[in-house]
Amino acid sequence: MEGKAPLNIYELTRTELTELLQEWGQPAYRAEQLWQWLYEHLAADFEEMTNLPRPLRDHLARHATLQPLQVLEELVSRDQLTRKFLLQLPDGETIESVLMLYERRRTACISTQVGCPIRCDFCATGKSGFRRNLTAGEIVAQVILIARAAREFAPADARPLTNVVYMGMGEPLLNLDAVLKSLRILTDPKGFNLGDRHITISTAGVVPGILRLAQEPLQVRLALSLHAPNDALRDQLVPLNRRYPLAQVRQALQTYFEHTGRRITIEYALIKEVNDHKAQAAELAELFAGLPIHVNLIPVNPVENSPYRPSPPARVQVFMEELERHHIPCSVRVRRGLDVQAGCGQLRSRYLAQSSS
Ligand code: SAH
Repeated sequence: MEGKAPLNIYELTRTELTELLQEWGQPAYRAEQLWQWLYEHLAADFEEMTNLPRPLRDHLARHATLQPLQVLEELVSRDQLTRKFLLQLPDGETIESVLMLYERRRTACISTQVGCPIRCDFCATGKSGFRRNLTAGEIVAQVILIARAAREFAPADARPLTNVVYMGMGEPLLNLDAVLKSLRILTDPKGFNLGDRHITISTAGVVPGILRLAQEPLQVRLALSLHAPNDALRDQLVPLNRRYPLAQVRQALQTYFEHTGRRITIEYALIKEVNDHKAQAAELAELFAGLPIHVNLIPVNPVENSPYRPSPPARVQVFMEELERHHIPCSVRVRRGLDVQAGCGQLRSRYLAQSSS
């Protein structure tokens, strides 16, 4: 095994883990025990697995790892409610994951790619370019790492994390195989047992991905990062729109709703005097007439070298009232963790800038 990178154990589904242990001459119940250590106890060291025989623990420690992600930096927001992790992958690439604490929810926001190929005009991740897809195990490992960190905030007997959102760096629907595999692992009822209704996948509008996800026997919440109510503006803000214009995206969302029965979330970053006019709120409402949606409004997080400014509260209010007048449910998201660069990709951008200077 000399020189070979250890196996990231979070790459394996329960079936695959059982097969691996079988190859090692272990009975099936050992895989069940190991699975519990991984996904119920969130073990960080094989030494904790005291009901596994010593030789198996040693063998695991030689060939596999429970820490495929190294924490390079952990930032805690002033209000303590947002914790952001800069994580290093085995090949040296870096990603971000965030723990967000709410009154009753503990949410992990995880990345699906290193960088992002979509290049939205207002997004720090897009500006840094695209490096590679994450593997399923790298996605699962983020959730486990965040879950370990969340434990101290969870009431006794409560699960460490209540929600997982695929809303960190990258476009999940351009890495759908790995995303789906990570979902199979995380929703396994004998392990982490995350309910699919507590999972959100956010997309910039990859139509074939939305349609494929609709075919899956999953009821994950789908969020569309809309940011503009017409093709002319959306072509500029979310360049993917040139490939999949709004009519196609809307049709795909309709299909998703018909298959899952789940209301679609629309993400809308309000940019002062760009997409926050009252008429644009009306246009948004018209675009989605007949489709159950919930709109999340968030004043855009200013990123470096960008002309975009967040909409001031008065403009946010007008936009929101116009949506409500059209009977569109909406909420304004509190800007969280700003002091920890919790805006998409901002911590990593700073890290990359520092390490190249
Ligand atoms: N690629 C996926 C998921 C990652 S981005 C997607 O586009 O949905 C997560 C969310 O953060 C998206 O809604 C994205 O549009 C938004 N976002 C990115 N940069 C932002 C900024 N500067 N201010 C506010 N929201 C931003």
